This record gives sequence, structure tokens and C-alpha cells, in this order.
Amino acid sequence: MVNTPGTPIAAITPTAPADLRRTARRDRAVRAAVEQGVLGAEAPIAALLDVDGIRESAAALRAAFDGVVAPGTPVLHAFAVKACPLVPVVRLLRDCGIGAEVASAGEAAVAGAAGVAVGQTVLDAPAKTVAELREALALGVAVNVDNTQELARLDALVPAADRRSPLGVRVNPQVGGGAIEALSTATATSKFGVALRDEGARAWLVEAYARRPWLTRLHVHSGSQGMPLALIARGVAEVYGLAEEINERAGRRQVDTLDIGGGLPVNFASDATAPTYEQYARVLAETVPGLFDGRYGLVTEFGRSLLAKHGTVLARVEYAKRAGGRAVALTHAGVQVAARTVYAPGAWPLRIAAYDAKGRPKSGPEVVQDVAGPACFAGDLLAEGRTMPLLEQGDYAAALDTGAYYFAHHYAYNSLPRPGIYGFTTNADPGSDPGSGTEGVRFAVVRTPQTVAEIVAESGAEHAAGITELTAG
Ligand SMILES: *Cc1c(COP(=O)(O)O)cnc(C)c1O
Repeated sequence: MVNTPGTPIAAITPTAPADLRRTARRDRAVRAAVEQGVLGAEAPIAALLDVDGIRESAAALRAAFDGVVAPGTPVLHAFAVKACPLVPVVRLLRDCGIGAEVASAGEAAVAGAAGVAVGQTVLDAPAKTVAELREALALGVAVNVDNTQELARLDALVPAADRRSPLGVRVNPQVGGGAIEALSTATATSKFGVALRDEGARAWLVEAYARRPWLTRLHVHSGSQGMPLALIARGVAEVYGLAEEINERAGRRQVDTLDIGGGLPVNFASDATAPTYEQYARVLAETVPGLFDGRYGLVTEFGRSLLAKHGTVLARVEYAKRAGGRAVALTHAGVQVAARTVYAPGAWPLRIAAYDAKGRPKSGPEVVQDVAGPACFAGDLLAEGRTMPLLEQGDYAAALDTGAYYFAHHYAYNSLPRPGIYGFTTNADPGSDPGSGTEGVRFAVVRTPQTVAEIVAESGAEHAAGITELTAG
């Protein structure tokens, strides 16, 4: 039913019970979405979030680190709000004991609206204004400074603040990039942080900490999708080494917390969760043995790995046609919900699952086809030349693993509306056949679908005559 995009890495067959259960929940939810009218002829696109799956990932993250840190080590897992900036999602994660990593005033407000406590919030924006820094200090939010000029700004602000904010500097360990250039934050010339291997940078950092006893953290985020675990761990090792040096020079444990960022890659090629948080924690423990011995508190900032596999975009096939011998399904999901995949299909292939008009997994002969979106440019394709069961008019195409950086990141091309997002639970009876009925599947609104009236209002309707009047006689 699910095709697999061409990828140099062999698709990992999912065998973990949690992965198999998630797949079964998805199938039941798709059918229930059609039966309950979440999706249909008049609601031709919707996004689903698997609430139980998100809870499981949050629990897996906490368990993985609980399994390696010395008892009593303070650990804050801060969800990178960027990955899925939806208030109910951040609230759900808060309910699972996860805080928030924010990088703009908007993300900070989303975290606040979700009820994330100030002490569980970390501000990492690369281009913070003076006003944003002042507010963060006033609130007591943890701040990681990006560069020398920002540190100079803090020098001016900190004496006036009452210093509840834990403060640190972001370091670029320059250990190298991964498979996706745009998401590699530890290259020699990355725009993030203080470049550790640049001439004089290390000595400057040690001195900067020696002169500022209020700097108590170090931050590193070595990258993201496409980065090998070993390389991410080497970035953490570099920053750990720097913390040891700073503390030795200070003669005390000045740096008491290491923020090791996020960036665990997600497997988009199958339903298997790989790598797991447990595997990553083990790699960290092997690469940086001192990291977990209790001398340092820890902050993590995972985004994609907490959400990606729990999101599905469902789009009705409005028309199915043929062109130049190729089958083409015209669906309602394209660039507006999958900008990365549409503009960079090589780096961001998505699996597409085929469901019939009743929301049941489609089988049957596999056909090479394009799965197209509704936008008016030729490249608006969710998948090109995929071999999968033929999508026909009235069927549904499901874009899998889209819980992070996809439907929550609307791109307003063609004034296409933001689709509705719905969380679901399946109330699965563990003893029953998980592939069976849809009874017990319940939906809750995460974000209402954008209306045409809202699009018009957001498109400057109240200023309709403004520029005409500028030049009118
Ligand atoms: C984007 C980002 C993250 C989260 O990255 P993921 O790949 O989604 O886990 C964490 N920390 C910082 C500073 C980021 O910019």
C-alpha cells in the first residue's frame, strides 16, 4: 500500500511493536476521518496527528536519557517549537514533561500560550533584538548567545537584570556537515554560534567566561536531518571539552549545564523509528563518557524526531488523468503543506500511501505515477514517478511522516488555505485486531481550517484602496 521513494539507504523494515502499532493506528484513523467527515468532498485536505504516538516519543526520549545519566542529574528536554509550532502540540508535550526551545517572539508566545513554564523555556534565536533580550532576562528565560556582538549587548543588560536567566554561548564545533547542506549547522562557515576552530576563538571563549561569572552554560546544535549520529556526538564532545577547559581555568564548576541541541535524524523511508533516542544516548555515552556522570546538567532540544512520524497529510484525489503515458493524480496537497519536498525533492522525499474513497488502504497492481498538488506550477508534485497502487478519482493520498516542518509550516502559494489539523486517539483495545474497525477513534481540533474570508483579510483587504489613492488625482 505504501510505496518507498528511491533512496540510497535500504528501507528498514519496521519490527518494533510501537512502530507496527503506530502504522495500524494510522490506517484506522484515516478510515475514521472519512467516516466522520473530517475529510471528504468539501474538506478535501486535512492533517492528522497521532496523540498516542507523540506521547510515546516523549516517553522514549525521557527514558533514553534517564537510562544513561547519573541519578539526580537535572535534565530539561526542551521541544524545538520550530518543528511544530502549534499550541495544543506544545501543551501535549508539556503534559509529557517536555519544555520548549524557542527562536522568535512568535515561538515564545506559542510556548507561553501552551503554558510552558519560563524555567522550562530556552531562547536560541540567531538575531535577537535588544528588546527581546531584555524581555527574556526580565522573565528569567534561559538564553544562549549567538555571537560576540550579542554577548556585548548582554554585558550592558545583565547588570540591570536580576539574573534569574541561565546564560550561555552557542558554539559551532565545526565538525562538518551532513547530507543536507541547508540543515548542516556545524560546517566551517555555518551562520550559527561562535566558530570554535577559527583562529583565536577558543582562547577568546575561555577568557570571555573567565570575565563573566554569570555565563554558566554552553550550547551546541550540530545539525539535523542528514547528520550521522557519530558526527553529532563529536560536536557535543567538542563543547564538553571546552566546558572542562573553562572550568579548569575558573577553578570551579562555572559551566554547570550543557545544552546539546536536537537534530536526531528521522527515517523517512519506512515506518521504522531509526535511529532511536536510546541509540543516540548510547552513542553520546560512548563518545563523551564524562557527559552523563552528574557533573553537568543537561538540556536537549529535539524537534523533528518527536513529531515527524506522528503526522499525516490526507488529500482527496480530485481528478486522475494521464499525460505523456504517465498517470497523474491531482490532489489537494502540494507545495502549501510540503514546501521542502516540492522545492527539493531529492533531499526530502516523502512516502505516499494510497487509500480508497472509504479510507481503506488500497492494494492492486502498482503503477508508475505522479502525485500532484493543487498549485499552479509544474513542479508542484508530492511524488514523481512513484510505483504504487493507482490513485483514482475520489481516493485519498496520504503524505506520511509529515508531523514536523510540513503541514504546520504553511506556504501560502495560490492563496491556498491552511488545512485543518486534528489530533486523534484510537482507544485501541490491545487484545483486538488493531487493523479492524474505527469505533473508538476520536478527533480533537488542533487548528481550524483557514477560511477564504481570513485569506482575504490577511491579504490586505482593509487597505484595499490604499495604494490606488496614493496616485489618484
Ligand atoms: C532546529 C533546531 C533544533 C531542532 O532540530 P531538529 O532537527 O528538529 O531536532 C534544536 N535546536 C536549535 C538551536 C535549532 O535551531
